[in-house]
Amino acid sequence: MIRVGLVMLQGARNVHIEALEKASKESGIEVEIKKLRTSNDLFSSKIDAVIIPGGESTTMRLTGNSSKSGLIPSLLRFMRQNPQLPVLGTCAGAILLADPRDGKNSLIGSSIIRNGYGRQNESFQTEIYSKLLMRNYPGIFIRAPKFSSIEDSNSVIATFGKDIVGVRKFNRIALSFHPELSHDNGFHRWLLEQAIIYSEILA
Ligand code: GLN
Repeated sequence: MIRVGLVMLQGARNVHIEALEKASKESGIEVEIKKLRTSNDLFSSKIDAVIIPGGESTTMRLTGNSSKSGLIPSLLRFMRQNPQLPVLGTCAGAILLADPRDGKNSLIGSSIIRNGYGRQNESFQTEIYSKLLMRNYPGIFIRAPKFSSIEDSNSVIATFGKDIVGVRKFNRIALSFHPELSHDNGFHRWLLEQAIIYSEILA
């Protein structure tokens, strides 16, 4: 049984639950979803993977840094202490990973530009290529951020033409699109597969 912590601060949360359930069926890896709203939620159970959904990064920062929640500072510390923890950050989630604002480096070795692909009416859908999945993937971009510089070209895991739309550092991946809105659960399956390895190392 793999326990996935899903950051519930704001945004596209429930679709991730559906995608995880489908990925679980496809892979045969049983999953329990632990909803994370406060730092207490994070520490009250053993977590094998984390998803930070898309939405609005400004709102997420406000709620997640509030004294009532405290989730963001605790989660950033937890991820830094456990570089092999599998993490999937999508869109606004990718922004929080790339620009954590905790006085330390990007968690994914890349910087990012908010709304780098324009605003709502410039949202689009296109086929991208994922080196991680070794195939094309339906990319859904909604007010998407743009990765601007990367530490290491080996960290690129998804491209759209010349653009980098997915990066990886350790076991953390950040995507500028929304995999949970497509019918392809490949990235969620990757997360579950990595979580099995991670939980076995810790066992
Ligand atoms: N533009 C949003 C932000 O700045 C991200 C959009 C999304 O997550 N779909 O947080």
